[in-house]
Amino acid sequence: MLIAIDPGHGGKDPGAVVGDYKEKDINLTIGLKLRDILIKENISVIMTRDKDETVDLQQRCDIANKSKVNYFISIHCNSFTVPSANGTETYAYPGSIVGRNLDQYVQNELVEMLKTKDRGVKYEKFYVLKYTVMPAILVETAFMSNPGNLELLLQKPEDFARAITNGLLKFLRNTDYEQMDNIEN
Ligand SMILES: [Zn+2]
Repeated sequence: MLIAIDPGHGGKDPGAVVGDYKEKDINLTIGLKLRDILIKENISVIMTRDKDETVDLQQRCDIANKSKVNYFISIHCNSFTVPSANGTETYAYPGSIVGRNLDQYVQNELVEMLKTKDRGVKYEKFYVLKYTVMPAILVETAFMSNPGNLELLLQKPEDFARAITNGLLKFLRNTDYEQMDNIEN
């Protein structure tokens, strides 16, 4: 089992910026913690970046595709123009049955552990979901633009990583993934 972890943004691209905080840094913190936890669970990991560097979207897909990873997990934080928007949502590529399934497990664990608002599982044609050849999900962990959510992201990055791990492990236990890989991305 080989998982690609993709901490969104990095280097020249900060992602969302709220006060002194940049999304790229939070994504990396959660991504590195996720890497450490997965390795402890005897799951192999490849990172699209493990430091603050610019990696374009196609490079991220290339890293995962060349390494023939089984699943691709992209980590992001949400942001909106009004601070009241909050909660967790996860994305799969439209029509991806396996991605939708993995999303649901990860989403459930995140909202249970972090007590964030459940914004549900969604479909979107995000670049890294479209151009990776394996099932891929994109996690919008919480809203940096919401003070309560931002506090969670800053104070409990390990809980986000642990929840994503728990969702992945439950998915793997409950899914005949080799068979599903052959059906549909
Ligand atoms: Zn982002």
